[in-house]
Formats: sequence, C-alpha cells, structure tokens
Amino acid sequence: MARRKKIYEGKAKILYEGPEPGTIVQYFKDDATAFNAEKKDVIDGKGVLNNRLSEFFMTGLNQIGVPTHFIRRLNMREQLVRNCEIIPLEVIVRNYAAGSISKRLGIAEGTQLPRPIVEYCYKDDALGDPLVTEEHIAAFGWAGQQDMDDILSLALRVNDFMSGVMLAVGIRLVDFKIEIGRVYDGDFQRLIVADEISPDSCRLWDIETGQKLDKDVFRRDLGNLTDAYSEVARRLGVLPQSNVNKPTLIN
Ligand code: UDP
Repeated sequence: MARRKKIYEGKAKILYEGPEPGTIVQYFKDDATAFNAEKKDVIDGKGVLNNRLSEFFMTGLNQIGVPTHFIRRLNMREQLVRNCEIIPLEVIVRNYAAGSISKRLGIAEGTQLPRPIVEYCYKDDALGDPLVTEEHIAAFGWAGQQDMDDILSLALRVNDFMSGVMLAVGIRLVDFKIEIGRVYDGDFQRLIVADEISPDSCRLWDIETGQKLDKDVFRRDLGNLTDAYSEVARRLGVLPQSNVNKPTLIN
C-alpha cells in the first residue's frame, strides 16, 4: 500500500490525507507538552485514551446537533475527520477560575465564575498563543462578526454539553479549549467544532475530592497522567473493559 501523505505534525497529533476528498486522518500521539513545549514527555497510552475520549465527546455533540469535524474512529489511535480551515483562535470557556485567569486577575483557583467566560487566544506558538480581544480578531480579519456570533454560540453549547456529561460522572468541568473550523457545503459555509476535546484541553476536577484528572497532572507533576485520563474514560464508560456500566450516551 502506498504510504499516505502527512499534512501536518503538531505537538500531540499528526494529520494525514484522508481516503476521500475533504477528509483527514487524525493520529493521536503519546507526546505530552506543556508551557509552549518547554516541558515534554512521552506518556504511554495517552494517544489511545484521547482518541477514544474525543470520539465520545464529538459523537455526543453531533447527536445533539452541535456540528463537529468527527466522522468515525478508524482504530486505536486514528479517527477520520472532515477537513476544514481552522480559524486561528483558541476558544477558551471557563466556569471556575484556574490557570492563566487566576494568575492574570488574581482570582483563587476553584472560584466559581459569575457566568461562563469565553476568551480568545491567537494561535501562534512563536508568540505563546496570546490572549486577544474581539477588536484584534475583527481588525486583523481572523474571523468576521457572523463567525464570532457562531463561535460564541458553539462554545456555550459545547460548555453546556460537556458540563452536564461530566457532572453525571462526578467531575467538574472547570474550563476547556476548543478550535473551530470552517467548511464549505456548496455555496454555503459554516463553522464546526474541530481539533480534539480531551483531558489535554480541559480542566477536570473530581467534584468530591478536587483531584485533578487532566493535563495539569503533567504540567504540575501531580502523578500519573494515564491513570488520570483512564479514570475519566472509566467513569464515562469509554474504555472497552468498562462496558458493563456504559452510559446510554455512547450506545
Ligand atoms: N488550553 C489548551 N491549549 C492551550 C492553552 C490552553 O488546551 O494552548 C486549555 C487548558 O488545558 C485549560 C484551558 O484551555 O483547560 C484554559 O487554559 P489557561 O488559559 O488557564 O492556560 P494554562 O494555565 O494552561 O497556561
């Protein structure tokens, strides 16, 4: 079989040309990076877990009518997704203060925010993904006004869905990051949720104990990352060996 064409290699994923036009194969690596890749490691099994977890979240979103790039999982580490033009923004939604907002505004980690706060960062590793305002986004043409309305609405719907799914298994969704892509259907264009949704891009805290079950375990050296992600997958019934208590959502 001919070797398939690599389109892009990022910190945690590799993208290959897909089998049909307009598709891409997304391969999940075991590499973990933090602080703009200053801290790096290879975490056995992380890619397999994120492939499964992203499939689970994206499938659920598709089912409730929030469009995503996800088509189907291909194997342990790969999924078929729709090719789209990624809008160069990291869209962050926060329910509780943690990480950069706590540092920036001096709010204690874990403080519930008065309402979900949506922030935008410009996707540029060399600049360290700086926080930007809608003024910058409009002035530099990264997204139009209609796009921004659609992005906000998608972000809040993803937040409601993810918060509910997590709450049902005793996990608090503190914050998360999504990326948005543009697709063309004939003469129409629309925005869809792209990239991945996994514990690499969310903050997830056990509601009872406050235990961190996300990439902060790696960032802050709090223990074994695979154990944390496996716990999320186990509670959601995503791991094959825990099918017994599988929630109806993924049936
Ligand atoms: N996040 C991400 N990729 C990034 C930056 C942030 O997935 O490049 C996620 C991060 O995991 C967290 C949320 O976005 O769930 C908010 O991150 P924050 O701005 O607090 O940044 P950090 O403290 O991670 O630098």
